[in-house]
Amino acid sequence: MGRLIDLSGKRFGRLTVIERAGSNNNKSATWRCRCDCGKEIVTSGRLLQNGSTVSCGCNKAEKASRRLRKHGMSGTLLYEIWCSMKSRCNRKSCKDYPNYGGRGITIFPEWNEFEPFYRWSMENGYAKHLTIDRKNVNGNYEPDNCQWISNSEQSKNRRTTLKITYQGVTLTAMEWSEKTGIKYNTIKSWLNQGKTPEQILGRRSA
Ligand SMILES: [Zn+2]
Repeated sequence: MGRLIDLSGKRFGRLTVIERAGSNNNKSATWRCRCDCGKEIVTSGRLLQNGSTVSCGCNKAEKASRRLRKHGMSGTLLYEIWCSMKSRCNRKSCKDYPNYGGRGITIFPEWNEFEPFYRWSMENGYAKHLTIDRKNVNGNYEPDNCQWISNSEQSKNRRTTLKITYQGVTLTAMEWSEKTGIKYNTIKSWLNQGKTPEQILGRRSA
């Protein structure tokens, strides 16, 4: 049996050894340590002495976020998408806030941190030319309601959702707009106000 070195009071990274805790399955000494963040853990003296354990685990999270910054994540398109999503939903001074946060659209709590959002994006088909889309436009930014699609797919989705039948002809709002010269947004807002196709489209042909 090797001589037991008393590690009490010694520091390893963010950990300060408080006392001997016992032994682990390999019969090596374990020590109770307090991390600088306040959390206490029990770990083996071997892991402390060879530099494997340097915090309660909080250091790992810090390292990961430092790595993201170091790798320039903060300058990437995905990071910008994340920032504008947050600002649309959370920042009253954002010009798009009335259509998002102002309508009660929220962000999945975990996504308030970039890393979980980054992980979800990577696992769900994010690519540089894609944009984040909510399947239900009245739903929140959350994993079940979001997908990565191309801009043209997104605008197609929006256009095809608004179909109007007038004088026996069914076209999308976008097609009616092209046909009549009435602005698409005008058609959309009149529809939202509850105007009938006759009221909206009849004005031009009259
Ligand atoms: Zn800690």
